Amino acid sequence: MKKQLSIALAAAMMALGSGQASADAANPKIGFSIDDLRLERWARDRDYFVAAAGQLGAKVYVQSADASEQKQIAQIENLIARGVDALVIVPYNATVLANAIREAKKAKIKVISYDRLILNADVDAYVSFDNKAVGQMQAQALVTARPKGNYYLLGGAPTDNNAKLLREGQMAVLQPLVDKGDIKIVGKQWVKDWSPAEAMSIVENALTANANRIDAVVASNDATAGGAIQALAAQKLAGRVPVSGQDADIAAVRRVTAGSQAMTVYKPLKTIAGSAARLAVQLVRNEKPAYNAQYHNGYKQVNALLLKPILLNKSNVDLLVTDGFYTRAQLAGK
Ligand code: BGC
Repeated sequence: MKKQLSIALAAAMMALGSGQASADAANPKIGFSIDDLRLERWARDRDYFVAAAGQLGAKVYVQSADASEQKQIAQIENLIARGVDALVIVPYNATVLANAIREAKKAKIKVISYDRLILNADVDAYVSFDNKAVGQMQAQALVTARPKGNYYLLGGAPTDNNAKLLREGQMAVLQPLVDKGDIKIVGKQWVKDWSPAEAMSIVENALTANANRIDAVVASNDATAGGAIQALAAQKLAGRVPVSGQDADIAAVRRVTAGSQAMTVYKPLKTIAGSAARLAVQLVRNEKPAYNAQYHNGYKQVNALLLKPILLNKSNVDLLVTDGFYTRAQLAGK
């Protein structure tokens, strides 16, 4: 009897020692801090993540920072105080979370950067789609449609590391054609918070500055593509000037079908959410997750899991139905 007790005590002390006193490894608690749940894609990420984590025995606490860095920091601190075992973070501003993450690491909490890489901070892992590949797909589709001419580069949010990776991918395709003299980049701008309204006014100004002589708009996601296409439509240029995108937002998929947007990129959110949930649980359980890449985030070499994006154009939007992302009625706008 005495011996059994001391074994139980030793086990409890070991758990404490490994920082897992609160970490009931069978039922970990995960804090999911999301930049902005008001956007279509992130609400879907949340739903898939909560479902996948639930199947692995984890409980998820979700917070939306509503595109505010102060709010996100406060929410992360609050999740740390609640005693979560892992934090999964979609950062609003990639560069301001180092202190909050230091606190998390002191409390032995595992930190996973979700979709966007957190810079200059001690994160344990990063899971995303291959953003450079997304950028390449965007530029390649436009170059196929318009091999020569004036290009405008509409970048993502300057606070989002993905915006830079996308641009790298885009330039890998465009630079040789610029060097050859086939393509001229007539302007470029980042779009604060990936805002459609801001994208629209940037493209309006670009059209005015170039007397409407813009032959392609490299938009980095569907939200900004929507703004760009509105600006083009006001000049009766929608459908005549190819615009790229990504996310397979429902409005964008309908634009692709109608012809006003040249392409979008489908990133199966169920896969990233499921991978991130598994990763978080594995890290809490001190298991070794499978990685396939590494990124230096300014602080350390971060292990990463990069997933494959899928190019969508008029010819293959049906994939979204077969994959269960939308119903046929949704695609048709019913
Ligand atoms: C994501 C995109 C998304 C954008 C705006 C990026 O970090 O990778 O899928 O469209 O943020 O929310």
